[in-house]
Amino acid sequence: MIYLDNAATTKMFEKCVDVYKNYACNQFFNPSAGYNVSLNISKELNLVRQHLLSKLGLDNGNIIFTGGATESNNLAIMGSKRNGKWEYVFSEGEHPSVYNVAKKLEQDGCVVHFVKLQKNGQIDYDKLNEIVNERTRLISVIHVSNETGAVNDLNLINKIRKEKAPQALIHVDGVQAFCKIPFSLSDVDVDFYTISAHKFHGPKGVGALYIKNLQTIKNIVFGGGQEFGLRSGTENIPGIMAMDYAFSNIDVDKNFNIVKQLKQHLLNILLSDEKVEYLETESPYILSVGFKGVNGETLMRALQDKGIYVGTGSACSTKKAGNRVLESLGQTKDQIKTHIRISLDFELSDEDVVNAGKTILNTYHEIWEKVK
Ligand code: PMP
Repeated sequence: MIYLDNAATTKMFEKCVDVYKNYACNQFFNPSAGYNVSLNISKELNLVRQHLLSKLGLDNGNIIFTGGATESNNLAIMGSKRNGKWEYVFSEGEHPSVYNVAKKLEQDGCVVHFVKLQKNGQIDYDKLNEIVNERTRLISVIHVSNETGAVNDLNLINKIRKEKAPQALIHVDGVQAFCKIPFSLSDVDVDFYTISAHKFHGPKGVGALYIKNLQTIKNIVFGGGQEFGLRSGTENIPGIMAMDYAFSNIDVDKNFNIVKQLKQHLLNILLSDEKVEYLETESPYILSVGFKGVNGETLMRALQDKGIYVGTGSACSTKKAGNRVLESLGQTKDQIKTHIRISLDFELSDEDVVNAGKTILNTYHEIWEKVK
């Protein structure tokens, strides 16, 4: 099997299972209890907050542990909503866990703006600049697109905020960026940043939200007041500890270069056929590729029969027709139909990628011969 859908999820590091087991079966105590063994867990939890801040390139700020990125995104957006004449700004390239929250705000009567994408998949910065104003409460943008691998320029977005809406908060969905592309939040001033453990070889159902200033956000669930009152419920200690292991053992720079090479090898094969279209973007981890004349869904199924697994878009939205993100950057419905998403990982070998590339191209030709 050659698994090329690492943007949907990654295989958990086996060592994470050992860490998980230790905190599930030995150090299983509730960090909120008052006795010594629990206090130790609580201290360890705070250490993970420090590790995560430093992996994000920060010395200060707050980390809230959540049940994954969908929850972190909901908390950042719904928790920063305020009554009054505030406006909310999103890109059209957001993952459903942001986009559908934006739609909910709209249904609730809030003023919500969606900013189009440029052809290269990044948000249209000129349009963003036109839209933000003194009533903007929140700007929410994806860091790396889960559909295309486009990387939004957080510095430019921050510059627009400073000039046009210094009161506005910035939320970034960093799920496909964290532990994948090199960056430091010390270089960009954002208020919220979302991550999810299962995208970087950690467990599913665990994530975090970085919050610069706790005063800017309110809780959206009510309960015992854990996580600074922002996320009630006993923390998933085994999952958080396993996530800590995962991000602490990822060398982002080294892996980035490995994956860059893998991407190049794969593209050298695929683009040898001029009917294959690749949307050039900055993250080497995610490739959006079109195979002229052939349905992406059909190609995906044929490849699965040969042990090669690719995506046709966000796993959370495969049941929906079309592709909102590709449409926003100007692709036609016919183009979109031919598209598959290939998402790479540093654990793949050159051989895997070369074999996969050849099989993808051969399979495309087999189908093309039947349908042309
Ligand atoms: N945001 C992005 C960009 C994603 O790719 C995903 C996962 N498909 C999510 C949010 C949701 O993450 P989770 O599965 O942790 O809820």
